[in-house]
Amino acid sequence: MMTAFKTLDDIGDVHGKRVLVRVDLNVPMQDGAVTDDTRLRATLPTVTELADKGAIVLLLAHFGRPKGAKRPDMSLSIVTRPYEQVLGRTVGFIGDCVGDLATQYVGMMQPGAVAILENTRFHAGEEKNDLELAKGMAAIGDYYVNDAFSAAHRAHASTEGIAHLLPGFAGRAMEKELNALEQALGNPERPVAAVVGGAKVSTKLDVLHNLVGQVDHLIIGGGMANTFLAARGVKVGKSLCEHDLAPTAEAIMEAADKANCTVHLPYDVVVAKEFAANPPSLRTCNVHEVAEDEMILDIGPAAVEALADALKNCRTLVWNGPLGAFETPPFDAATVALARTAAALTQEGSLVSVAGGGDTVAALNHAGVADDFTFVSTAGGAFLEWMEGKELPGVKALQH
Ligand code: ADP
Ligand code: MG
Repeated sequence: MMTAFKTLDDIGDVHGKRVLVRVDLNVPMQDGAVTDDTRLRATLPTVTELADKGAIVLLLAHFGRPKGAKRPDMSLSIVTRPYEQVLGRTVGFIGDCVGDLATQYVGMMQPGAVAILENTRFHAGEEKNDLELAKGMAAIGDYYVNDAFSAAHRAHASTEGIAHLLPGFAGRAMEKELNALEQALGNPERPVAAVVGGAKVSTKLDVLHNLVGQVDHLIIGGGMANTFLAARGVKVGKSLCEHDLAPTAEAIMEAADKANCTVHLPYDVVVAKEFAANPPSLRTCNVHEVAEDEMILDIGPAAVEALADALKNCRTLVWNGPLGAFETPPFDAATVALARTAAALTQEGSLVSVAGGGDTVAALNHAGVADDFTFVSTAGGAFLEWMEGKELPGVKALQH
């Protein structure tokens, strides 16, 4: 799945060299404050290492969706102060990522200095992967380092085009992520289990199609389990269910059969008549006992126990999507219980566990086990595309 890429170990002497580092500074903000600085902290190993080696560190990033317009409310100048605090060093801000202004500013920077370049998406060429824009950015650097796995599924000028114009390297966060993903699906220790949950089958069709050919156990939970159950003739009442996808679900189960992949569907479920926290109508039942006015909101305790047993025999786990409507108690129970089992097996050294997805990360944090997994990806779209078996342009460009 993956070939070799160069890392900072291969970059050589960078003292006084201008290193363009593509990072993800697209942090959530409220009233001028960063509400989650995970992405800022993720850049620290690379930026600190390069600055300590005397490089002139130039951070390339996008912020929001300005769609090629210069939007003051989407200027990366807003992130410069918060980033300075996280980095613990002075960080400059350069009002454009190309052109005379950038050239002059960079020309005055001292070895070891760090600066953020203005939002790459202020140029329409960024999202079009325009060669002229990529050349403009490459002109102010000697090396290119990509440390933004989360942006690597997009072939943009700052993630793909530029990698063909300068010697390219994976940053430390990118390196760690690619190695973890390789360990989980590229060249995993078997048996491999995949948990796929979340709301809908339709958003994860490609993930399911790819996984049946890669893993030994496919554990289906969340709203999408309802679609699979319905395809098997189970009456799912008012549950979230994509009935029109029954043939697709059947095709996936057939493909799994052919590939010797065991599909695990729940045999008990947690249901309620209304979707609310601890509703009076809450009950656990066999999947064949769901009433017409009930909806399935979590998989049941017997199913979780069986899945935990299956995981005990596995060496590798990839997880995307919660098993139930985990934001609302007690429909978090299955997700929390299975996550804790996976975390314990990982800590015992019998399981390599890799998880990703916006809601999945939230669910693992809620279960208090995100740090006990081998690797948790915060990359969202890029993580899903990787689970779909797609080649990520930003990663591929580093491998040429
Ligand atoms: P991720 O962001 O990790 O890829 P998804 O966005 O696919 O995950 O799915 C997460 C959502 O799925 C959560 O908001 C959760 O409430 C919902 N969900 C899970 N199980 C069910 C269910 N049985 N019924 C309705 N929604 C569900
Ligand atoms: Mg989601």
